[in-house]
Amino acid sequence: MTFVDLDVPTPLVQALAADGKLLAFPIQQQTLPDTLNGRDVLGRGKTGSGKTLAFSIPVVASLGEDDAASSRRAGRPTALVLAPTRELATQINAVLEPLAAAYGLRTTTIFGGVSPKHQINALKAGVDIVVACPGRLEDLLQQGALTLDDVRITVLDEADHMADLGFLPGVTRILAKTPADGQRLFFSATLDNGVDKLVKRFLKDELLHSVDEAT
Ligand code: ADP
Ligand code: MG
Repeated sequence: MTFVDLDVPTPLVQALAADGKLLAFPIQQQTLPDTLNGRDVLGRGKTGSGKTLAFSIPVVASLGEDDAASSRRAGRPTALVLAPTRELATQINAVLEPLAAAYGLRTTTIFGGVSPKHQINALKAGVDIVVACPGRLEDLLQQGALTLDDVRITVLDEADHMADLGFLPGVTRILAKTPADGQRLFFSATLDNGVDKLVKRFLKDELLHSVDEAT
């Protein structure tokens, strides 16, 4: 099944094709009809199954449709992707950036271990999509460098890994600051360790898609 068959918007199909990606992986085939339709989704799939594109496509498509770029405001992103580590946030941003560029949307990463100066400046200049680790994001929220009031779509990647690292309290506080009527996409290999509680609290009528088993 191609990305065209899945009704991925043409600018994104073109950006994917430029990267040699024409056919959707199973997790993408299963989730895209629902995520592109605005539904909350819980996706389960092992490492390497293609979860990053599965959420990056609907994140960009949902903003692109409304031409967020023309209404960009300082410190008020419209999409948020939470990732457990700096390495993962950087990888996700590398996947998101060319797709976001197709709509003139801006992305930035927020993580600890480096000076916050560049991150704060990027937020001030205005970004649409923030890819963040919970600790530094909470610091910057506390400082007023950004607000999540305008976030329309939120992704939680590697929720189980977040739990293992003890990040769920922070993730919970962050999700509670995103608008309750926004779209939310969670990806996790398992539903243990409190991930189930997070699902119950923050996903609405979610659809579960799992590619753990051979199909
Ligand atoms: P996961 O997050 O599920 O572990 P990734 O999103 O990191 O997996 O994807 C694993 C690899 O598969 C990456 O190298 C990515 O570029 C590649 N990939 C993902 N989707 C496709 C696709 N539809 N066609 C070709 N390669 C893909
Ligand atoms: Mg991944």
